[in-house]
Amino acid sequence: MTEFISSQRGETKMLHEGYIYSKHRADRIKTIWRCEKYQSYDKCRSRAISLNSVEVEVVVLAEHNHDPNPTLCEKAKWMETLKKEAKNSTESTRKISLRLLAAAPESVLAHVPFLESMQKTVLRARKGRYKGTTSVCQIKPKMKMLAEQKYVEIKNEKLEDSE
Ligand SMILES: [Zn+2]
Repeated sequence: MTEFISSQRGETKMLHEGYIYSKHRADRIKTIWRCEKYQSYDKCRSRAISLNSVEVEVVVLAEHNHDPNPTLCEKAKWMETLKKEAKNSTESTRKISLRLLAAAPESVLAHVPFLESMQKTVLRARKGRYKGTTSVCQIKPKMKMLAEQKYVEIKNEKLEDSE
């Protein structure tokens, strides 16, 4: 399965068979992708070409020097959802973070960042939207309690899993 996600900064990524690719260049017919790990310590040289036809066809040009990681793909999708929601919603930073955390796929939960760093991600995604006038909506105490309760439940489950 091939999926595409685009970040707030306009970068497009391709998720293909457990690997994440960054867009390198594109023309009318095709897009050339580089494995996201091309800049990492052990530089992966894998590239892929996707044909911009009705049905996306992907040709992988070189083998990866690492295993596929479908969980990282799921996480990438989930992080983009978080950022988009952060930008488009008026909920408080904390509420969005808790809500998305509660909605995260199980495989992603083991890899989600801490709540504080999620909140930073939300704030970063919102930068520029408020232009200095930060307005944080107050959430109803009951909603907040429920979301926090859910978060604690998830955290406890995670702790149990790792034992
Ligand atoms: Zn690779």
